[in-house]
Amino acid sequence: MTGEARDDCLFCKIVAGTIPATIVRETETTVAFRDINPQAPTHVLVIPKAHHESAAALASADPALTADLLREAQAVADEDKLDSYRVVFNTGAGAGQTVFHVHAHVLGGRGLHWPPG
Ligand code: IMP
Repeated sequence: MTGEARDDCLFCKIVAGTIPATIVRETETTVAFRDINPQAPTHVLVIPKAHHESAAALASADPALTADLLREAQAVADEDKLDSYRVVFNTGAGAGQTVFHVHAHVLGGRGLHWPPG
């Protein structure tokens, strides 16, 4: 069920502390940690502690938590002193989603091209 921690979810394990991560920020509802395979000088993943599969599932289930994620994305950018940055929610395998616990990629610290690949 959406919102409940899952034993088979990598990011639920990071929330639980059973898998290590370089955590840069934590709130009551969210965790932000550095991506293990960074694509930019700043590449941080912001996740809700509650398990939701995708941005769309999260937005339907908990709009306030969705807003928490976006506020935390800005907080990460502020901490890394980024004037501009990109927030990406890959949604679905065809768009590159590999971990099905919603996460906002916060990317910055270099020029970012458009459109993305
Ligand atoms: P997705 O492809 O949009 O689902 O993003 C998943 C991201 O999680 C990728 O950028 C991975 O590099 C990252 N990732 C996978 N395992 C870990 C980990 O254990 N710690 C931090 N980041 C991870």
